[in-house]
Amino acid sequence: MIHWDFEYMLAPYVTTGLQHGRLYFGFGSVQREVVDPVEYEPLLTVASLWKSYKTPRQVFEEARDGKHKLTDASCHRAIAMLGEGDFLCEKNTLLEKDERYKRPWLYYNLNGANPATVQSKLASSHVVILGCGGIGNFMATSLATAGVGMLTLVDGDSIELSNLTRQFLFSEADIGGKKIDVLRRELLARNPECKVDVLDLDIKTSEDLRKLPKADLIILSADTPGGLVWWMNDFSIELSIPFLNVGYVVDVAVWGPFVIPGTTGCWSCQSLVAEDDAPDTRVQSLISQVNRGSGAASTGPVNMMASSGALLDVFRYLGQFGSVESTNKRIGIWTHSLRIETQNCALNANCQACGHKQGGKLNSARTTL
Ligand SMILES: [Zn+2]
Repeated sequence: MIHWDFEYMLAPYVTTGLQHGRLYFGFGSVQREVVDPVEYEPLLTVASLWKSYKTPRQVFEEARDGKHKLTDASCHRAIAMLGEGDFLCEKNTLLEKDERYKRPWLYYNLNGANPATVQSKLASSHVVILGCGGIGNFMATSLATAGVGMLTLVDGDSIELSNLTRQFLFSEADIGGKKIDVLRRELLARNPECKVDVLDLDIKTSEDLRKLPKADLIILSADTPGGLVWWMNDFSIELSIPFLNVGYVVDVAVWGPFVIPGTTGCWSCQSLVAEDDAPDTRVQSLISQVNRGSGAASTGPVNMMASSGALLDVFRYLGQFGSVESTNKRIGIWTHSLRIETQNCALNANCQACGHKQGGKLNSARTTL
């Protein structure tokens, strides 16, 4: 809702045009279709008068004067429509031409948030990225360049030739170097305002997670050892640190559930993955034989797609705007058909892992896949 005496201007992302016999005003999330041609001129006049900072009162007066001659009612309708739909930016919510965060600030405006407030929340956030491969590269780059205040990169691996198809901040010259060190160097080259710590660590047991620093969010972008996500789930619940798993199931790009302990469903609240243990020992043995020596397909686009979906949620969570889409569900994009599948992960009061956080009884926590 706009204030009659505050200054606003038409947001730079608002454009308009005629198609299919109607006026489209704004595109994307702010899009409105104006069907009645009588409404075109008042709306376009008011919008054209608002290309610089003015109060609604000033625009109203200008639109009614001798040059434009709009009626009071049509002026009010046009101003009301612009005021209700994130078409206007309040004064001091736009940055100058060469400022670093100019474009993201438009995005925060588009989402109905105050950009300065979002930027401040990002700057005071600390995110741990556990796994600095393809997804870790994309996630870390977006978070650092957007102004997240602190990142801790966790990985024990060195860079190999076969990483370069998707771990885009690494080059041939970096082969043999530690992923965390090269990634840190490349992030600081892009945004020295971000503080980047590194932790040279291969997670081998659930106890190793205790070496992670306290943070606002952990991004789990490592898929080994088996059982890691369950260890992380228990760790997250015990220390009340939110975490988000990002990865892929063969060619399905997957993120979620976004676990906020005590608030959302966790990995154990519902059945999310196929079990590899079976009551029948013969079947168990065969499953193990089939799964032995498996290796995940991994390409740049699938890594990027999972990272992109997850990043939208991470920015909404840290910046506290919009809604985090992957809470209480796990989202998968089938990359060959672009079908989106979601798995329910609603909070379960009898959950063995997080039930106690909800006032239920704590049973023995699951520690293996
Ligand atoms: Zn749970």
